[in-house]
Amino acid sequence: MASIMGSEMDKIRRLPPELAEKIAAGEVIERPFSAVKELVENSLDAGATEIRVELQAGGKRLIKVVDNGSGMSPGDARLSIERHSTSKISTAADLERISTLGFRGEALASIAAVSELVIRTSDGSSGAGIEVSSKGGVETEVKEIAFPRGTSVEVRDLFFNLPARRKFLRSEQSELGLSVRYLTSAALAFPEVRFVLVHGRKEIINCLPVGSLRERIFELFGNDVLERLMEIDFRDGESRIFGFGSRPPEGKTDKAHQLFFVNRRPVRDRILQAALNQGYHGFLTKDLFPEAFLFLILPPEEVDVNVHPAKAEVRFGDSQRVFHLVLKGIEASRLKDRGFDSAYGSSGERSGAARVAEAPSPPTFSGGVRSETGPPELFRTYPEESKEEHYPRVLGQFLNTYIIVAGEDELLIVDQHNAHERVLFEKYREIDSAKKWPEQTPLIPVLFDLSPEKALRLEENRALLEESGFRVDPMGGRTYALNGFPDIFGAEEAKETLLALLEEIGESGAGEKRERVLATLACRSAVKANEPLSREKMDFLVQELWRVSNRLVCPHGRPIVIRIGKNEIDKGLKRTRS
Ligand code: ADP
Ligand code: MG
Repeated sequence: MASIMGSEMDKIRRLPPELAEKIAAGEVIERPFSAVKELVENSLDAGATEIRVELQAGGKRLIKVVDNGSGMSPGDARLSIERHSTSKISTAADLERISTLGFRGEALASIAAVSELVIRTSDGSSGAGIEVSSKGGVETEVKEIAFPRGTSVEVRDLFFNLPARRKFLRSEQSELGLSVRYLTSAALAFPEVRFVLVHGRKEIINCLPVGSLRERIFELFGNDVLERLMEIDFRDGESRIFGFGSRPPEGKTDKAHQLFFVNRRPVRDRILQAALNQGYHGFLTKDLFPEAFLFLILPPEEVDVNVHPAKAEVRFGDSQRVFHLVLKGIEASRLKDRGFDSAYGSSGERSGAARVAEAPSPPTFSGGVRSETGPPELFRTYPEESKEEHYPRVLGQFLNTYIIVAGEDELLIVDQHNAHERVLFEKYREIDSAKKWPEQTPLIPVLFDLSPEKALRLEENRALLEESGFRVDPMGGRTYALNGFPDIFGAEEAKETLLALLEEIGESGAGEKRERVLATLACRSAVKANEPLSREKMDFLVQELWRVSNRLVCPHGRPIVIRIGKNEIDKGLKRTRS
């Protein structure tokens, strides 16, 4: 008879608590930046006005967060590293109205479970403080110390007891980059708080407390970025959206520059992203996306923050309403923004001609590597004048974007930007392998400011950039001077290209970087879509394109040419050969 008391047949067993703890910890703390985020959130919840973060080895060796917040009593300090211990909520009803960043009471427990942790804290009531040490979640020492009001949490050797997790961490620079990005967003959400980030001996962020988001953006990114943005501020009952977004027709080539915050919490969210892009639809130069720092303030009961282990996502009670709030906010500020009306005609589309006329100094068509002889005879004579038929033969331009070409037995539609990009890419590759980038020096150095993240990237890739002719000198803080650049660009363009490069090479491995640089240079100096081209330019471009071996896809992998064969045309027009 089967026993209900358990037998050898049973397969399920309760995990030992240490193992369960490690598994739970892995959910909350994925990598060094997750620990940085949780610790900084705790400091913010404690009302700190100064938060200092120190990292070593990208946070793998050490993460230390020191704040001047409320601090903890000795009893609270010892309890704080236990799972499900929190001072922020006490009833299920509280979960419906969260106004702090933390609430689950598991961050410190999770970090403690997978590191060596030391908390030093004092709530300022007794003049003395307490130091609690633990290893792998087990308390190892408690002692009284002298400590000012506030808290310091030191995390050493994260994942020392989870070797698999440790192995999958990325390079120091890459892990550091994630922390820099997080702290940048925290600094944006809390302009009144001083943030300092130090890596090894290098200070990466040092933001003084300021009175507004505008000033914080200025501190972090400099005036250039601020000038590209328009202010957004819109209220609807208890809800509000404020922040900054691209000033049309400016924009970014990817969606990586869209930061959203809900009740000061940085979040990823599809609805907000869709609303933002919808709000800008038709107002940006083709293929560009809006840049944005958007803050939503919603009544806490309309946001569920308890849906993601790392609290990186939220759920809205009424997402339709939130979508429209964003949309209306963008619309309202677009109408208010002066720059907007003058840049557009009634259609909201800017004409290609206007673009060209405004361009500071259009790059020479062949990208500065102009051939001495110019186009050969064949391409100077227009087809109608020549006796024999030569292929490929340019028939004309369509929509100021495509070149229509007659091949021997096919019709070709060539994307002018992608084609030029490919041609330049091949050319640059040649120059690059010969290591003779023609460099020029501007009369006045071009100054620019970089965000902490970009400044870091610049330092990392300095050699690579110099090989491509970009000479950049630090001017103190995160201000830099561009003192040399490839002669295919004007000064302003060179700066823009350098900024684009810093974005592009961020994610690529060392081997790919060279190619990425060349592709970016090619993309930046190529003719754009919506740009009228003269007959000579089209002829020259097509001729050059036919010379390169890989003429079907551009360096970014997008197609260049569509072919429509004679057979297809015959068939479509029901003309059969007699
Ligand atoms: P949660 O933030 O979800 O409450 P944590 O594990 O992050 O959970 O922290 C547990 C508790 O420890 C917090 O509720 C808070 O009372 C206390 N605490 C943690 N960090 C700090 C700090 N920097 N200053 C003051 N109190 C802190
Ligand atoms: Mg917390």
